Formats: sequence, C-alpha cells, structure tokens
Amino acid sequence: MVADKNSEKSIHNNDKLDVLKSTQTVIRHALEKLGYPEEVYELLREPIRFLTVKIPVRMDDGSVKIFTGYRAQHNDAVGPTKGGIRFHPEVSEREVKALSIWMSLKCGIVDLPYGGGKGGIICDPRNMSFRELERLSRGYVRAISQIVGPTKDIPAPDVFTNSQIMAWMMDEYSRIDEFNSPGFITGKPLVLGGSHGRESATAKGVTICIREAAKKKGIKLEGARVIVQGFGNAGSYLAKFMHDAGANVIGISDAYGALHNPNGLDVDYLLDRRDSFGTVTKLFKNTITNKELLEQDCDILVPAAIENQITEDNAYDIKARIVVEAANGPTTLEGTRILSERGILLVPDVLASAGGVTVSYFEWVQNNQGYYWTEEEVEEKLEKVMVKSFNNIYDTAEMRRVDMRLAAYMVGVRKMAEASRFRGWI
Ligand code: NAD
Repeated sequence: MVADKNSEKSIHNNDKLDVLKSTQTVIRHALEKLGYPEEVYELLREPIRFLTVKIPVRMDDGSVKIFTGYRAQHNDAVGPTKGGIRFHPEVSEREVKALSIWMSLKCGIVDLPYGGGKGGIICDPRNMSFRELERLSRGYVRAISQIVGPTKDIPAPDVFTNSQIMAWMMDEYSRIDEFNSPGFITGKPLVLGGSHGRESATAKGVTICIREAAKKKGIKLEGARVIVQGFGNAGSYLAKFMHDAGANVIGISDAYGALHNPNGLDVDYLLDRRDSFGTVTKLFKNTITNKELLEQDCDILVPAAIENQITEDNAYDIKARIVVEAANGPTTLEGTRILSERGILLVPDVLASAGGVTVSYFEWVQNNQGYYWTEEEVEEKLEKVMVKSFNNIYDTAEMRRVDMRLAAYMVGVRKMAEASRFRGWI
C-alpha cells in the first residue's frame, strides 16, 4: 500500500517536472487566450519533425561506443528552424522537444525570421578527450546532415558545447556540402565567421532584462544583491556584467555546489579560475548546496543552469524580489504560480535568454551577406531588440492581467500560428 502511494506520488511529481508537458499546457492556455481553434494547438504541441540518430564513435582506447542523438524541428512556417545542440548525460527526447518549442517562442518574441529547433546527444563531455569529442561532433553532423543546412535548420551551442565544437561541425558540414558553409551553424569562432558579441549575447540579453525589470520594481542596480545559479557561458558572463554594473554578486554555483558571501564574492577571481565547463566551486571547501543558494536573501535571482530548479517545494522559500530566467525551464508551472502570487516579478526564459538566438541571427545574416559588423553595432542592435521585447511582454502581461510567462507565450506563439495559417496548413 505504502509502495503504491509512493509510486503514485512519484508519477505525479514526474508529471510536474515534465518540461514538454508544462510547455504544452502554457501553449494551450496562450492559444485559448488568443482565440485560436484546437487544430492550431494540435500543430504546435509537438515538433513537426524529430530525428533520432545513433552515432558510432571510436574511443581513444580503441573501443567503439554508440551514442544517441536527437534533432527536433518544431515549426518551419516562419522560416528555417534554429536552435542549439546540448551535450549532457540527461538529454532526453522530451527535453529536446520542449527546448525546440521554446526556441520557436523565443524567435517569435524577438521577431526573428525563424522557427525553433534543438538538438542533443546523450554523453558526458567532461569525461571525454578532445579527439573523442571531435569524432562525436562530426558523427552527429553526418547523421543529421539531410535535414539541416543554412536555409533549413541552423544549429548553435547550448549546455556543454562551445565554439570549438561549432567549428568542427561547420567543417564537417562544409565537407559534405562541398562548399564553405559558415551559415550552417552559429556560435563559431570569429575567424570562421563568428559574430562579435555572440559568446556573451545570452548574458547581455539577460542583463538588459534585469535592468528593465529592476526599473519596474524600483530597485537600483548599483548595490543590488544578485545570486546566479550556474557559472557556464550564461552564468559567468552574467556575473561579470552584474559586477561591472555595480551590483553585488553574493552567490554563484555550478553542478558541484555553491559559494555564498553576503558581503559579495570576488567575481574576477572566480572568472579567472573557472574551467571550460563552468566549474569553480570544487576549489573551495566552504560551499553550500544549489538548493540552499536559491533560498538565500537577495534582490535578484538568476537561475542560469538547468531545468526544474524552482518548484512548489521551494518557491515559498525564494527571497528575491525579481527572478530572471537565464536557463531554459528553471521554474515549474507551480513554481511560477507561487512566485507570481507572492508578488515576485518573474521574467521568463523565452524572453530573458533570447539574446543568444538574436545574436546568432545576426551571425547568420553576416555570414549570408559576407559583411561583418563591429561589436558596438551588434550590441546596439541587441539592446534595441531586447528592450522592445521586454516592454512588449511586460505591457501585454499588465493589459491582459496574466503573468509574464503566459504573456510571453501569447506573443511568441502568434507569429508561427499566423504563418501556418497563411501557408494554408490550418
Ligand atoms: P554551460 O554548459 O556553459 O554551463 C552550465 C552551468 O550549469 C555550469 O556552471 C554547470 O556546472 C552548471 N550545472 C550543470 N548541471 C547543474 C546542476 N545539476 N545544478 C547546478 N548547476 C549545474 O551552459 P550555458 O550555455 O551557460 O547554459 C546554461 C543555461 O542557459 C541552459 O539552460 C541553456 O539552455 C540556457 N541558455 C544558454 C544559451 C547560450 O547561448 N549559452 C542561450 C539560451 C539559453
């Protein structure tokens, strides 16, 4: 009897932590609010295309290991699909599908001519050599080459992938295509057609959202206490930008633990000591857990690591006045409801982290035209896009009396629904 109850509870909890299911719930809600019929939901609830591939890789010890990879293309009514590739042991089909839907929403929110895509490989790059990673990256591109390309589906970096991996992937695709194809992938090194400002773009976009949200809440950034969960690409740049803006970064974390000091951390030192996977806390003894970090007193909390970090179990213990989601899916629907009820301003992932795809779009435009912009030009364009998108969603939320997540979904879903309608699909 007890076992049954436990397993029932665990199914119930798993359901709540199922990122695809919760995304579908908000999509349905957004479409209903906008007055779209059921078939629009049926079209948008899952990717239109989903590929599972097996990638054999010769390991350094001579053995062959077979990896599983995915590529999801959510909706290509607006234009080619676009989205990152994640290398992580916990990548799953449902996660990749949800991530591709979020990409569609982001592209709609910042008004890019793309639909959403996403890819992932189940692997742990922290335990692989450089050469093994290269063989895996090239093998993945060969496996998905038929459905991707500069005018079909354009990948980019995500968790545990970086500009070196993008460079190998671009080279492999160029060999298959028999043309130099920099527009196949974004997040490349500058010398291979990468864009100025791409590496820090996600954090720049989050910084702009934090600044705008702080204005709405009457919080001065200078001296504001900030906690950032995750110290990888998004989290580390963000800590730096917050520090440079005069905020007091009092907590950071990685997969192994968290550092907290109410008087402020030495951000420059931590940046200097972090490794390429965003690990730094292993160097310290006096760490706390990620869970404890999220519950510390602060003004601004930025989850910048992984999914399902703020849930019904800890949302009542969050002390921040503003939560800005740099990570994809860090707050569950129950978590969102509780924060919202408590008057905490939550800036959702599909808006806050859209700076990355925006500058990826700039990179693709520069590749297509063969004419490259300065860092200042990129930053100026990004600033305009993010401020406009933030205010559009904030105002929609106020006008429709909904939380910012639902407002963002309403804005994000509209463009693909309209494009699908004009194409005669629905
Ligand atoms: P990254 O691989 O550079 O860094 C990930 C960080 O999270 C590392 O510090 C890692 O130690 C930490 N981490 C991993 N597992 C953890 C766990 N279980 N608990 C706590 N911390 C953990 O990845 P990133 O590119 O910075 O991406 C972080 C988040 O931001 C992801 O949700 C990603 O989808 C999202 N995002 C990234 C970009 C981008 O351009 N990089 C764009 C949009 C959204």
